Amino acid sequence: MAIKTIGVLGAGQMGSGIAQIAASNGYKVILRDIKQEFCDNALKKMKAGLEKRVAAGKATQESVDATMANLSTTENMADLKDCDMVVEAAVEVLEIKQSIFQELGEICRPDCIMCTNTSSMSITKIMANCKNPERCAGMHFFFPVTAMKLVEVIRGAKTSDETVKAVYEVSAGIGKVAVECKTDTPGFIVNRCLFAFMLEAIHCYEEGVATTKDIDTAIKLGLNHPMGPFEMMDMSGLDTFPHVTETLEALPVTTWKCPEAVQQLVKDGKFGRKNGHGWYDYV
Ligand code: NAD
Repeated sequence: MAIKTIGVLGAGQMGSGIAQIAASNGYKVILRDIKQEFCDNALKKMKAGLEKRVAAGKATQESVDATMANLSTTENMADLKDCDMVVEAAVEVLEIKQSIFQELGEICRPDCIMCTNTSSMSITKIMANCKNPERCAGMHFFFPVTAMKLVEVIRGAKTSDETVKAVYEVSAGIGKVAVECKTDTPGFIVNRCLFAFMLEAIHCYEEGVATTKDIDTAIKLGLNHPMGPFEMMDMSGLDTFPHVTETLEALPVTTWKCPEAVQQLVKDGKFGRKNGHGWYDYV
């Protein structure tokens, strides 16, 4: 099935970005929030942002008009019944997401692809009461949606291969690069790796290894990261940090012991770029 109409639930920071990027890439978008005024405000902000781009010579008025013409809004869930795909970007509360997907399962066609943009919760749990869990997946965007290229596609326990393929196709259709998170692991790929890294930076600070400023400088200049871990935590908002670590606590504690996979590569004589073979082949 070719996906043409996308329903987006939640007209906040993420939902309005997802709606905008989909509409600007030619999809028909129905943006739904619990109050019409939230949708109206989101559209107003979107239009103002796009018109600033026109004024700066970065976009044409025609492209802005085309984007806005692809967008409609509603506060009525039933208006999503003919969507080929829905992406939920409502508040990060399990019970709210579960009830949204239970309702969507009743309202939407059985072939509708249903995605959640949750940043931390289990896809399987969110979809627990949804009628068609094989048509459900995680579709995790990054903020700001219009600028960040990545989408993590996360498999819930019952997500089908066809659903993953469909989410990949839409991701490409809106100019994003998709990666597949094959299991419903806490933190998915990015947050799982990022938090391991940020937690270690905090441990260094707490042990008196270095100041936050020197750790940031070390990571920026030593690893070529655009931002240090403390700068990044401040940018993302420290209030969200405990919520994510609470989810990640379900993971086994990491150790510094050399993992089997690396020991095997070394045993096989694969030392990396220096001899042409490592995790990747270079010859
Ligand atoms: P936000 O608070 O800006 O927006 C959430 C919106 O959802 C609000 O407008 C609210 O009225 C609406 N909403 C609440 N219940 C709803 C319902 N039943 N149906 C439709 N809309 C409903 O939040 P946000 O930052 O846009 O985050 C949305 C989701 O995206 C969360 O799950 C969050 O974890 C995830 N996320 C956020 C980021 C980020 O950096 N902000 C990044 C990736 C993922």
